[in-house]
Amino acid sequence: MHILIAGGAGFIGANLCRALLKRGDEVTVIDSLYTGKRANLDDLPLRFVEGDICDRDLLQRQFSPDRLHFDGVMNLACPASPPAYQAKPIETLLTGSLGTVNTLEIARVHKARYLLTSTSEIYGEPAVHPQTEEYRGNVNPVGPRSMYDEAKRFSEAVVTAYATTYGLSTAIVRIFNTYGPFMQPDDGRVITNFLNQALVGAPLTIYGDGSQTRSFCYVDDLIAGLLAMFDSHENGPINLGNPQEVTIRELVSAVKSISGKDCTVTYHPLPGDDPTRRCPDITKAKTLLNWQPHTDLHTGLQAVWEWFQR
Ligand code: UDP
Repeated sequence: MHILIAGGAGFIGANLCRALLKRGDEVTVIDSLYTGKRANLDDLPLRFVEGDICDRDLLQRQFSPDRLHFDGVMNLACPASPPAYQAKPIETLLTGSLGTVNTLEIARVHKARYLLTSTSEIYGEPAVHPQTEEYRGNVNPVGPRSMYDEAKRFSEAVVTAYATTYGLSTAIVRIFNTYGPFMQPDDGRVITNFLNQALVGAPLTIYGDGSQTRSFCYVDDLIAGLLAMFDSHENGPINLGNPQEVTIRELVSAVKSISGKDCTVTYHPLPGDDPTRRCPDITKAKTLLNWQPHTDLHTGLQAVWEWFQR
């Protein structure tokens, strides 16, 4: 199959490109390189277009069905780290809205299956725990995360509208915190911060008191889930994440253990609207896709620690 990956030069995209090429698919990537890096794909035999999915003219020029044919469009294009999307709030909202519509249009004219990578952030500060897909979320529409959360909520709505209006084959996955090779060392997220701080002997920066929780999924597991969803006829939304929930303080202990360093910690103010708890209910993924993660946090952290060292 020939797959277009929007946002293919980012962390998850770089891993997804490798998995698709490995199984024999043909890959074209479009990426604005705002958070993605061309170097993430340097060694790969794929077609790369540098550009913004909000640029409809560019998309029509590059991806006209007269010139090539896509069997699938996977939309991963969006900054996903809070500092990255907060630095470009309007662009993030446009990427989720206009950019999603533009990529849906590509899928429509190519009659391609469309996969949207949505996010656990659409649950906001969750009042239901663990989060099931039926839970409708608790998002602050004007808060410091709203540009990302609301953009993704709109994305889900417009993907649904394309499915009902045009009969497009669509899939929505809600990705929970993910980590692994090809994360940018300066992306500002907790695992990259902690591992890089441990690497250079700097104190680990805990925001708040470290009692907030996250559930971290190793990227190889996540990619298997994305492919299972894409290959299925499911529409979703389906949660993809690892239900092994840890506090940020427990993450500090894990980083100390795998790095073998007795890191000190410093405490910093908790950012606004930082969710208190987050953990996926993955019953749907297990039942409908026969998918579940296999990599525990210690094993995955060890792999990323070695990758960052290299
Ligand atoms: N966090 C932290 N120290 C850091 C970076 C993040 O304690 O150096 C916390 C952050 O406040 C949040 C959690 O770790 O509670 C996960 O943050 P991240 O930015 O990785 O992802 P989020 O799930 O918040 O989008």
